[in-house]
Amino acid sequence: MKKYILVAAAVVAVGGLAAVLFWASRRDTSPRSPRVDEFIRNPANHPDWTVEAGSRCTTGVLRDGISPFILPTNGFIGYLWGDTFDPSHLHQGIDIFSGEIPGKAPVIAAADGYLTRLADWKSSLIIRIPNDPLQPGRQIWTYYTHMAGPDGVSLISPDFPPGTKEVFVKAGTFLGTQGNFSGTPGQPVGVHLHFSIVLDDGKGGFRNELQIENTLDPSPYLGLALKATSSDNLPPLCRE
Ligand SMILES: [Zn+2]
Repeated sequence: MKKYILVAAAVVAVGGLAAVLFWASRRDTSPRSPRVDEFIRNPANHPDWTVEAGSRCTTGVLRDGISPFILPTNGFIGYLWGDTFDPSHLHQGIDIFSGEIPGKAPVIAAADGYLTRLADWKSSLIIRIPNDPLQPGRQIWTYYTHMAGPDGVSLISPDFPPGTKEVFVKAGTFLGTQGNFSGTPGQPVGVHLHFSIVLDDGKGGFRNELQIENTLDPSPYLGLALKATSSDNLPPLCRE
């Protein structure tokens, strides 16, 4: 009898330890999170934190006095490239939160390029840019995601149905609207656009956009001064 009690106690202890480790691994470690939470709760109180689709920042790394890409949507730039949400994962792009419900805030192309949407992509698309404006001669890709409602109903423009391949779009072309689809139906995230720059695989395709080592910091392309490693965590991120 005693033996069973010991076994049961061990099972409970191991389970408890696993739960603690799971919680620790999921703990949000970005210093930006309190501000993101505040913006999502009270967007109307912070219009001065937001940027506008189609505008250009002029505070960061510029080429010929102008940032190469336009801002792809409206809202508060809450998370940056390299932010940590858990110790094992670094953020591969920037997140712009509209403060609105899904289907409202427009998402536009940040630069000219060739748009592809894989057959099973509900909320994502990718645009090939043959000539990297900051490193001419190499090809890069711009990836846009979370453009679907909480259950995965797409908010991408009907101009770009699943299976779209290599359609040329100009900077500013309407791509869809911000949503909150996480990839798992019924488990929405905050309404935002995740925008990232993905490296080419050298064979005319793009590398796995989910791993930070396959991506570049979008900040210099958008003229943003701030990096995730900066101690300056103050909005606005895009004004002089
Ligand atoms: Zn993101």
